[in-house]
Amino acid sequence: MPEGYHDVEISNLALIDACWGASVADQVVDHIQMRLHHAGLRVTQGAGRGRFRLVCNMRRPGVVDHQSLAELPYRLSAEPISIEIAANQQAAAVHAVVSWEGDNLPRYRAPRDIQIDHQERWFAIYKSDMQIVAYLFRCMREGRLTPHWQAVCDYRQPEQVLYHEGLMRFSDASEALAPDVVFPALERTGLASTFDWLMVAHVISELEFDPKATLGVNISATSAHLHGWWGSVLDDLTRRPAIAGRLVVEITETEPLTHIDDTAAFARRLRACGAALALDDFGSGYTSIRNLMQLMPAFVKTDGSFVNKVSSEHLPCYALPHLIGLIKALGGTVIVEGVETPGMADLAYVSGGVWQQGYYHGRPGLVRRGTSCALPRAHFHEKEEPIRKWMN
Ligand code: C2E
Ligand code: CA
Ligand code: CA
Repeated sequence: MPEGYHDVEISNLALIDACWGASVADQVVDHIQMRLHHAGLRVTQGAGRGRFRLVCNMRRPGVVDHQSLAELPYRLSAEPISIEIAANQQAAAVHAVVSWEGDNLPRYRAPRDIQIDHQERWFAIYKSDMQIVAYLFRCMREGRLTPHWQAVCDYRQPEQVLYHEGLMRFSDASEALAPDVVFPALERTGLASTFDWLMVAHVISELEFDPKATLGVNISATSAHLHGWWGSVLDDLTRRPAIAGRLVVEITETEPLTHIDDTAAFARRLRACGAALALDDFGSGYTSIRNLMQLMPAFVKTDGSFVNKVSSEHLPCYALPHLIGLIKALGGTVIVEGVETPGMADLAYVSGGVWQQGYYHGRPGLVRRGTSCALPRAHFHEKEEPIRKWMN
């Protein structure tokens, strides 16, 4: 959060107005204003509807501090606003996407972009996305989301676990909403970062609870910067190296990393506090070698399609050993994802992939099996200077 900057805005207000009407939009404005008052902040109307100027004395202890201000937009965004009466539908709710006005947050897809992205379909997509995320946040509040854990195993000794990756699941097994529906909806509504904030807090509390565990948490690329909630989380992790040293943060480039310098600054802070970064789904989507060299993650997870293709009977593709060789040459530790059969495990191993993850080694489950070892040091880190020189 920029120093001394105290204007917030509801950045999806126009979308709410267009989808549910002016009275719901007014209700959202009133709700956020009331929440700001409850947070102990003196508020005046900012320039325009849905914009607020926070009048607060930063020097008065106990009123408001930098940390709570940095997290404020996420706390407000996570708060459901009931629209049961207006929508005439039980449990109907919307979320205001609250952000610092005029800030330089790296937004990969702001709510406003939805109109441009989806043209005339945006209205239906936005309403359905909001319904999905409101349901998701409700389940989270009510403890109806349970992270499942999937081990990253050593091929040679599968009981040896590098870490367990946390994957969000609805507790109700009959729930039809799958992660590949939920996460795009979170991204499109601008609420992915708010969800990640809650999930990271959950995984850190799991690390406190189980001192033997080493755990991975997925975050959206939208959350991989220091402008929002990570600041206070990283301060906390710096004070607690025994927790930080057992945390792996996985990011996927679901969108092009247009603010790579922000992501690289985040990666440096994460490394400095002793936590590890993993670049997920490498080789698919928008991942680039240049980004790999700038982020210098401790772990690089090859996309599941590579081990799948190498073991395909028809038209096998032998890119996996080359991909693994490239990552290793740059100093990363490779994790081969999507290992489903003993044959795939063998192929991944002979391709150079010692660390493996997939249904063959264990499906995501409530119970964490295997013994976690200490995370290896990031070799990328040692190579920081030569790589920098090579890039210039
Ligand atoms: P991901 O991070 O790449 O997670 C791996 C996905 O592959 C998981 O799907 C996992 O269940 C599945 N998988 C594991 N082993 C195998 C295998 O051998 N074969 C195949 N075909 N699939 C396997 P899931 O749980 O449906 O998650 C999908 C994606 O949703 C994740 O991909 C991740 O990008 C996202 N996601 C899941 N939980 C979270 C979360 O808590 N936060 C965020 N930001 N994203 C999450
Ligand atoms: Ca992952
Ligand atoms: Ca993956």
